[in-house]
Amino acid sequence: MEIVVIGAGLGGLFCGALLAKEGHKVTVLEKNALIGGGLQTFVRKGESYETGMHVAGGFHEQGSLYRICRYLGISDRFEPAPSDLMSSVTYLAEGRTYDIPAGKEAFIEYLSCKFPDERDNIRRYTDAVFRLSQEEKLFYMKSEQGGYPVHSDEFLMPADQFIAKYIDNPELRSLLAFVNPLYAGVAGHSPAYLHAMISVMFIDHPCRFAGGSNRLAEALAWVIEQGGGAVLTRRNVTRIQVEERMIKCVTDSEGREYRADMYISDIHPCALLDMIEGKAFTPGYRERLRTIPDTVSAFKVFIKVKPGTIPFSDHPVSILDNMSNAWKLSAYDPQGWPHGVSCFMAPSEDGKWATHISVLSLMSWDEVSRWADTRTGHRTPEYEEWKRARTEKVIDMVSNVYPGIRECTEDCFAASPLTFRDWLGSRNGSIYGYFKDTENLVMSQLPIRTKVGNLLLTGQNVNMHGIGGVPMTAIETAETITGMGVIVNKIKNAR
Ligand SMILES: Cc1cc2nc3c(=O)[nH]c(=O)nc-3n(C[C@H](O)[C@H](O)[C@H](O)COP(=O)(O)OP(=O)(O)OC[C@H]3O[C@@H](n4cnc5c(N)ncnc54)[C@H](O)[C@@H]3O)c2cc1C
Repeated sequence: MEIVVIGAGLGGLFCGALLAKEGHKVTVLEKNALIGGGLQTFVRKGESYETGMHVAGGFHEQGSLYRICRYLGISDRFEPAPSDLMSSVTYLAEGRTYDIPAGKEAFIEYLSCKFPDERDNIRRYTDAVFRLSQEEKLFYMKSEQGGYPVHSDEFLMPADQFIAKYIDNPELRSLLAFVNPLYAGVAGHSPAYLHAMISVMFIDHPCRFAGGSNRLAEALAWVIEQGGGAVLTRRNVTRIQVEERMIKCVTDSEGREYRADMYISDIHPCALLDMIEGKAFTPGYRERLRTIPDTVSAFKVFIKVKPGTIPFSDHPVSILDNMSNAWKLSAYDPQGWPHGVSCFMAPSEDGKWATHISVLSLMSWDEVSRWADTRTGHRTPEYEEWKRARTEKVIDMVSNVYPGIRECTEDCFAASPLTFRDWLGSRNGSIYGYFKDTENLVMSQLPIRTKVGNLLLTGQNVNMHGIGGVPMTAIETAETITGMGVIVNKIKNAR
């Protein structure tokens, strides 16, 4: 079968690679000059920076990601570098730093030493987190029995209430929310399963991609090419022609047409709506896609540091203004921003020093909406001034942990929600796609099949974002073509 995938992000590439392995001829169309979406890396002044994915999990022997990559024959094409610490978290107002170790028992023991009165609660909480993650069967390469997943009440409980159910100490409750920036959690709304899946990935075997996250993207593109397919860059899809609820062809901005038996969209569904012909979807379906809210965007400061000045940390270094703001990171607060930042480093060749630090802070689109009509390279002086001021705020926060950061800086630049919108093509620069809300979870989880017979969806908007979610959805999308369980069984049996 000939298959066209729109978007060479984590979802499009995993899906394309799985289908190429099944013998299908896959053509992936990517609007950017670089493939990868959130996995892409770019070079500036000789230094290579990651756009998104800084921390991952599941790449250890028997981990789900390792097993999928081994099945695809790419486990030796990139290098997941494990870290001993999940994260270091500093609370400025309290003057406290927690160096949280990886590994379930080490995690429990460390927190129990810090909060001795909570020892039993910490174990019960950690067991509950692992139990919840087990409900995502595909993450453990198990097929759903009977088709529809059945979930516990805790699975759909708001994450903050889930933590509070097990933990009494308010400080420990806040500390356990430190993975919040990895899902842009909102108190009372973000589901416990997101918190559990992400916590387990990073408690279990946290890692980063040595040499950059794009190496995973390139490995997946290699599988597609080995299967006789292609991953084409600078192919901005602008039009999808539909006849009688079937795609006839897709067209890019240069007027090139691409025809296939099946089409898969890895882009934000609202971007899809803008290019697909009006009658393809019912008004109700269009309305649904448009009204699902998005997760927030981000402001990211990239700091190239002078050689031998900042020691390399292989884990995220999080800095928050105070413990009570753990759930405020996603909130729009122009005065108090940023309540917290996460620093990710790249190592020098000898692994001792940082070559650069990427500093991520969550930011609302509302901060930049007044410049929505501008594009990268053509912004206004007012915007540049705003960006400079925001960059200074971020560096102020970083300097609490790295006091000499300004003197150590060789180059510094920033990406705003506008940049993320233009890089990823996501609505309002949303970094994790559609927001998952316990109050209306059905609304924010999309079926893979659409009202157009030969169009399927994949990527972070369909289900969970990130390395723990998008590859699993890619399997589900691919199995919509191959038959349910076909690929999972092959992954399970691969040696
Ligand atoms: C700043 C940031 C930090 C993150 N950190 C982590 C992390 O540490 N760990 C983790 O697990 N996850 C992290 N994530 C999330 C993770 O990167 C995403 O969930 C994942 O990459 C999404 O993959 P996707 O394929 O769904 O979408 P995307 O990666 O957004 O891919 C969509 C692709 O479609 C392309 N496209 C869009 N429109 C068109 C068009 N019209 N024609 C052709 N191509 C088009 C885009 O250019 C893009 O390449 C982070 C994300 C960001 C942005």
